[in-house]
Amino acid sequence: MSTDQVLVTGGGIGGLSAAVLLARRGVRVRVLERSPEFAEVGAGLQLAPNITRMLDEVGVLDRILPLSVQPRRLVFRNAETAEELTHLDLADARRRYGGPYLVLHRSDLLRALLEAAEAEPGVTLHTGHEVTGVTDGPDHALVHCADGTEFRAELVVGADGLHSAVRAHLVDDEPLCSGYVAYRGAVPIEQVAHRASMDDVVVWMGPGLHLVQYPVRAGRLYNQVAVFRSEQYRRGERDWGTPAELDRTYAGMCDEVRAAVPALGRDHRWPMYDREPLPNWTRGRLTLLGDAAHPMLQYLAQGAGQALLDGAALADALPPGRPWASHDLGAALREYEAARVGFASRVQATARVWGDIWHVDSPVSTLLRDEVFRSRDVHDYHLVDWLYGPAVSA
Ligand SMILES: Cc1cc2nc3c(=O)[nH]c(=O)nc-3n(C[C@H](O)[C@H](O)[C@H](O)COP(=O)(O)OP(=O)(O)OC[C@H]3O[C@@H](n4cnc5c(N)ncnc54)[C@H](O)[C@@H]3O)c2cc1C
Repeated sequence: MSTDQVLVTGGGIGGLSAAVLLARRGVRVRVLERSPEFAEVGAGLQLAPNITRMLDEVGVLDRILPLSVQPRRLVFRNAETAEELTHLDLADARRRYGGPYLVLHRSDLLRALLEAAEAEPGVTLHTGHEVTGVTDGPDHALVHCADGTEFRAELVVGADGLHSAVRAHLVDDEPLCSGYVAYRGAVPIEQVAHRASMDDVVVWMGPGLHLVQYPVRAGRLYNQVAVFRSEQYRRGERDWGTPAELDRTYAGMCDEVRAAVPALGRDHRWPMYDREPLPNWTRGRLTLLGDAAHPMLQYLAQGAGQALLDGAALADALPPGRPWASHDLGAALREYEAARVGFASRVQATARVWGDIWHVDSPVSTLLRDEVFRSRDVHDYHLVDWLYGPAVSA
């Protein structure tokens, strides 16, 4: 058995982008994906300037721009009254942060990453390989798959998502259920009778719920995500977040929000999980990235973006040449963690708080939230500077 330089478990956005970024630094990478093909769910994704700036630097941005939409504004509305409370001017944000704010279909991003990975001679891709365990050793780590195959690598990068098999070797923790559930999907634009806007990302905030709407695939599809807190979950019912509960929860909202609900696919729902942030992501020759390292609630629209940044930081940290001696690899992984753990943990923690603000349900908290949003100067970026920054112009 030969020894790979890097073996990445999981071929999602995080795993494939890491493979591309590592290969461009001359690192040879093998990716093991458990599904029969590399695929994403049929829904949209927002990529803020902190992510598109990096994608531009590594030459991936040009691949996704033709299929993306660059919205004019990120708008926040009250889901009961329909009132527009505040917005972020995304053209202004592009100037300030040096990268566009994009919305696109997940499969368009994954396809671009897959094509970029296939074009790299240093990347070997496998589908149908479910990783079941990892054995760490002084000179290499051994990766075990469900079909009995084994692979040896100098470094194993767990990019296998929320229920990561690699993470289970580093820490004994479990995903935390938020009790919220999402229904989502991108459908042909003509199937959506009431569109909030073709120019904006619109977030409708209501009691224990929110709806996000935006166009994707160069405006040919409309993406909608309806999220709500399940009372059936709170009561301990086994079947929770059902389509009937979706309809009940959204029934009291304004006309525009209620009109969105019939266009949502009902055959699949996504219960929302995260985990507590970890102080480090590495043990020996094993490390983590993306949702395997820092699964977060999606309210800052940063999970995939943070996975992309992880891959870039790992590629920056790994030393040239091979084989990697344990101490060189250890130093490189400490550098990777120093660049990423604190920041990603802050995004994880802030996403929870942001969701709590959106979902307030008492009349007093709603009044206060709306007043704070209303009185915000739309040119004030202090709440997002830490996330989208550094600012390249004032
Ligand atoms: C409703 C919703 C909206 C969101 N919106 C945004 C947004 O607008 N912007 C944003 O940046 N993020 C968003 N996110 C978050 C984003 O989807 C995730 O953070 C991102 O997909 C994580 O990518 P990943 O590659 O780390 O993990 P995953 O996407 O989970 O990929 C993991 C891959 O590993 C494979 N795998 C799993 N186990 C194994 C195994 N044992 N062996 C081999 N392969 C395995 C899986 O099949 C999968 O292909 C959203 C999430 C949700 C739920």
